[in-house]
Amino acid sequence: MSSTGKSYNYQVKSALVQKDLKRNCCRRSELSAFMHFRGSVIISHHKPSLSITVEGASLARYLFRLLKKVSGVTPHILLRKENRLGHSYFMVRLSDVYRLKKLLNALKIKQGSGWRITPPAPSPPVLARCCRRSYLRGAFLAAGSLNSPHSSYHLEIFSEYEVYSRTVKSLMDNFKLEGSLRQRKNGYYTYLKKADSIMEFLRIIGAHPALLQMENQRVLKSMRNQVNRMVNCETANLDKSLQAAQHQLAIIQKIDTLMGLENLAAPIREAAELRRYHPEASLKELGEMLEPPVGKSGMNHRFRKMSRLCKQLEEGAYRGDTCKTN
Ligand SMILES: [Zn+2]
Repeated sequence: MSSTGKSYNYQVKSALVQKDLKRNCCRRSELSAFMHFRGSVIISHHKPSLSITVEGASLARYLFRLLKKVSGVTPHILLRKENRLGHSYFMVRLSDVYRLKKLLNALKIKQGSGWRITPPAPSPPVLARCCRRSYLRGAFLAAGSLNSPHSSYHLEIFSEYEVYSRTVKSLMDNFKLEGSLRQRKNGYYTYLKKADSIMEFLRIIGAHPALLQMENQRVLKSMRNQVNRMVNCETANLDKSLQAAQHQLAIIQKIDTLMGLENLAAPIREAAELRRYHPEASLKELGEMLEPPVGKSGMNHRFRKMSRLCKQLEEGAYRGDTCKTN
């Protein structure tokens, strides 16, 4: 939930309905989806009327325009209810019987007995690519939900009827999205879990702001991971060179105690003294402090000699090859 009290999902849909579809074929296709997922034909006083329920005022206005364009009659909008979260549901209704019959025929929606839009629906007609996109767009607007990109990746479209969920699934397959279909207690839902599939879906239905947001969030996530990896790596390297320095300091201390640093050959004594002054410096840095500078491997060589000498001193096997005369 955002600070404005509207869900992320609702914000995405509101942005999506800022633009009306241009082609008649696509409008019909999108309206079919609205009717499949949220529509019902109600009989009242022996007169049928079509009702489509949607969440929020901007979606209701959009559906009003869509229904008016496709059917040629002005529908009514009724506020149905407002829930605790302040979400309002609207019913967009078409009561003209003649136009309604025409509309259902045009959308190839069969009237069940008593005017009900009932499954099994006719298998989805082979639609043009533009209309397949529009059907998915309508299904998402009517019954879809999308998680905020800050949480886990999830997009789903719910239907009480398996047949419509299968339609969505087959359209997703058609666009090579990796959709799955599951049954729930009260119906069926088709969902996408992979970021790539969700982003492609948003692209297909024209939800560009949401797509952009998701892309940004993804870049941010991967940058964060990369930075974490780099920090971990640097910490590990730092630990390693600090450990090495501690080890060297211990050796230097032992040599100093057992024979005195002043008795060491000059290059080795220099290295030992530098290490004592700069316990945190790397070998490379220590080498650069010398005049003339000594490379990392040269410094390594000097500390290896110290280590060997220390061992010999401890074992009483020192033969004097590391002292001043050397
Ligand atoms: Zn079309």
